[in-house]
Amino acid sequence: MIEPVMGSGVVNIQDLIDDANCYRKVRELRWPEGVWCPFCGDEHLLKQGFDSTQKQRQRYQCKSCRRYFDDLTGTIWRRRNPRSSA
Ligand SMILES: [Zn+2]
Repeated sequence: MIEPVMGSGVVNIQDLIDDANCYRKVRELRWPEGVWCPFCGDEHLLKQGFDSTQKQRQRYQCKSCRRYFDDLTGTIWRRRNPRSSA
């Protein structure tokens, strides 16, 4: 039998929102067959490094429409603090 123990770090929030895992999961869910442009749907992309504050957040540029986007652009995942989601 498992009982929740308050105040002893039973749930490690950092584990749940671990950046690398989080962004990998986002990519899996969002682009299960490979990344494509959210603006025009083209699959020909250039990787443009990573977000300056979130090192696991891959940035892309579309070769077709030339627009920039990243793992979270245009998704509900964009919310900055997952814990405050309503
Ligand atoms: Zn595009």
